[in-house]
Amino acid sequence: MKKWLTAFICAALPMAAVAQQNWKAVMRYDKQSAKTALTERLSKYVTYDTTADANSGKVPSSKGQISFGKVLAKELKNIGAKNVKISKTGIVTAEIPATTTKPTPTIAFLAHMDTSASSSGKNVIPQVHSKYRGGDIIINQAQNLRLTEYNSPQLLHARGHDIMTASGGSLLGADDKAGIAIIMTFADYLLGNTGIEHGPIKIAFTPDEEISTGIKTMDVADFGADYAYTVDGGDLGETIVENFNGRSFTAVFNGERGVHAGSAMNSAFADNLLMASDFHTLLPRHRRPETTSGRQGFILVKSIETQGNQSVVKGNIRSFTDEELAELTAVVEQSFKTVRSLYPKNTGTELSFTDQYKNAKDVIPAKLIEVLEQAMTAEEVTPKRVSARGGTDGVFLSFNGLPTADIFAGMFNLHSPLEYADIDIMEASLRTLFSTVSYWNKETK
Ligand SMILES: [Zn+2]
Repeated sequence: MKKWLTAFICAALPMAAVAQQNWKAVMRYDKQSAKTALTERLSKYVTYDTTADANSGKVPSSKGQISFGKVLAKELKNIGAKNVKISKTGIVTAEIPATTTKPTPTIAFLAHMDTSASSSGKNVIPQVHSKYRGGDIIINQAQNLRLTEYNSPQLLHARGHDIMTASGGSLLGADDKAGIAIIMTFADYLLGNTGIEHGPIKIAFTPDEEISTGIKTMDVADFGADYAYTVDGGDLGETIVENFNGRSFTAVFNGERGVHAGSAMNSAFADNLLMASDFHTLLPRHRRPETTSGRQGFILVKSIETQGNQSVVKGNIRSFTDEELAELTAVVEQSFKTVRSLYPKNTGTELSFTDQYKNAKDVIPAKLIEVLEQAMTAEEVTPKRVSARGGTDGVFLSFNGLPTADIFAGMFNLHSPLEYADIDIMEASLRTLFSTVSYWNKETK
């Protein structure tokens, strides 16, 4: 935007803000500078190793998250955010004060600091592939690591975009440092442009999302937001509106294997290992993770452990509906009963279930999604509702009094060395955030 144009629009500020709620009319914003800010922030953030450690037993689970949290808290203070705090479990929170006296709802934006342990998060060297022209993007020639339109089909829509990848040997960490870069850039703009009218805004950067422990240490009531959005999604326009119901199961099979194999026949021999294996085999193949998609649920055996006379099978059931969850639970029960009857010489079997999390669909008010979709539409982004085939931090928040939806953040091929961030989609997410707070400004609490 040319300087004189900015000055002219700023002079017309009060009327434009009230009549149109148009954030662009009251903020000095140009796409290229926003993309530069997002690229710089993400390039810096990914160099911190914040790999979550499922075996640590602590929150945060890794030291890198503590160091990174301090860096973020310092940056928040530097850009003028208020009430910047780090909780005992490493949650970084801050506030952007309201610029209106109207009683509007308090809106929060959250992103997570940790990265998945499924690929290394050490020594990440980001590289930007500017103005993608189609074809393969080479991440590392020696490792023959490249993004292709086959392994990254969203690249078909990314012509002209700036793409950030790692350089081989690690993930990028865009999940969810892209979300952090978007929120920090959003806060930086808002704090430097008080002309835009908005209610109170809260920010939180949380640890250990990948191992589902960090968010559970958050004092949601003390955080004090009315509605929240995690910025932890993928493709342009996507918003997560529901998640799986999660139920785990444990099947225990006891059977005597201490008999000499040569004289097993006509003895107490009962092969607990085979019972476990049969149980796994009997679970229907068309209800497995790799044979289901969309809104179909599945049954997954996660582990089979055998020690002496006992085998233990652990698994998960996932479904969007209570009906299908009950149906899949019955399938597991039936397979278990069949195995038990096939091995009458077993020395004890047991099947138990534990409910892990629930679909948050029913506790997310329609308004939360509607406002977001209006905001996207105003930014010429086509909204796309997504059912998350997993759990999210938003589930915990939604069930603990803070209804939360998720906004796209332009990250793809998560948790792998092929992970990449689309800077242009991040920029569209950033605009969606401005637009979202402008729309919430129309609402009274
Ligand atoms: Zn994430």
